[in-house]
Amino acid sequence: MASHLNVIVEGCCHGELDNIYASIAEVERRRGVKVDLLLCCGDFQSLRAEQDYDALAVPPKYRELKDFKKYWSGEKKAPVLTVFVGGNHEASNFLGSLFYGGWVAPNIYYMGAAGCINVGGWRLVGASGIWHKRHYQLNHYELRAERVDVRDVIRSAYHVREVDVFRLALLGERSVDAVVSHDWPRGVERHGDAAGLARRKPHFRDEMQRNDLGSPANEILLNALKPAHWFSAHLHCKFAALVNHGDGGKPTRFLALDKCLPRRDFLQLITVERSKSGPVELEYDAEWLAILIKTHSLLGFEPPPARAPPIPEEFQRPSSADIAGARARAEKYCRRAGAPAEAPLRVPPLSGPPWHPPRHRFNPLQEANPQTDAFLKMLGLEHVVTVPVTAQMRPCPPCKPLASTTAHDAVFANAAPPPVPPPTTEASGVSTPPPPSPPKRSELVLPPPVND
Ligand SMILES: [Zn+2]
Ligand SMILES: [Zn+2]
Repeated sequence: MASHLNVIVEGCCHGELDNIYASIAEVERRRGVKVDLLLCCGDFQSLRAEQDYDALAVPPKYRELKDFKKYWSGEKKAPVLTVFVGGNHEASNFLGSLFYGGWVAPNIYYMGAAGCINVGGWRLVGASGIWHKRHYQLNHYELRAERVDVRDVIRSAYHVREVDVFRLALLGERSVDAVVSHDWPRGVERHGDAAGLARRKPHFRDEMQRNDLGSPANEILLNALKPAHWFSAHLHCKFAALVNHGDGGKPTRFLALDKCLPRRDFLQLITVERSKSGPVELEYDAEWLAILIKTHSLLGFEPPPARAPPIPEEFQRPSSADIAGARARAEKYCRRAGAPAEAPLRVPPLSGPPWHPPRHRFNPLQEANPQTDAFLKMLGLEHVVTVPVTAQMRPCPPCKPLASTTAHDAVFANAAPPPVPPPTTEASGVSTPPPPSPPKRSELVLPPPVND
């Protein structure tokens, strides 16, 4: 039975979870609705402690822990089911350890480098990272390396890889309800008020003229998937477009939003149809799991100059038997984790205290995660781009600044600024002083949703 889903889309998060949840509570109060899902389009900054700075690509003077650590430690709980993709300002150690997606905190789910999940019967794709030509055909080598050049991996870690685009494209045309990415699909502005955008953002003009605004990888995905909705952030402005695919089928509604700052367009409430009723929970997508199994051999971890295994020219999408096999594996796993009969693929909720990762001496991106171990075991796959939790790994004490943090400061002193957006743009948000008297936090926490 079809039902509806109230989704709040948010642009860049930049660690401002308290403000975002407060704004959602305000939207709920004013509009008289209950929000079922918050989608964050990257630059989430899931920083748990100062040691995560080593994996975050921002100049040292703009480092700030912000709100996430309270949600991770259990001091606060996300009042709305929150799903996000990665951008170019992330705790790339933490997100890398959840390569296939997983919970970063109770009620806050990361979609992985690439992922597809069902949210209460709404099929959602996440495409993390931003475009960079230099890394597109390389392996995901950052996490497995024993010794790394931090200047290199701290940026390459969030650059999109061809294998992830290929995997997502296998889902096929008009098969998904929405795609969330950080970067815009290249050229999407041509389907909206491009002239108005060029007036508001004159520094985009050159790129727009060269058809170089946004990600070519996301352009490939937009054409391959033709989803009903596509949400992005990164360029820090609101922009809407209607992408007509020229085949008589339904167009894609594209929406980009700003970052969370006062008087900026960073939130949008939309109501969408979903294919089932009942509680809004995350469920694994059996076809996506079958794709992960079928394309596992396309993953590699060798660092450059090695290239990723080539993408085959002829590749069959998973058969119905492949999908049934993946579903059976996942159902068995989810049943053991307490999934109810009406949601047999429910993603197991986070259990136990937050995982304190041990630190690798020479690679700040190398981190293991028990969720990834369990996920790979469920699918019968080996670790390739990730590492398992081992008996020797003793979680380090959390929330202690490490002396090594300063060693990486020098890296940024000499590093070239990232191309888009320039660090000053990012910084202006980071350094804005907080409003004088924030509302009392406890009042913002919503009562638990009533399921009836
Ligand atoms: Zn960004
Ligand atoms: Zn941003």
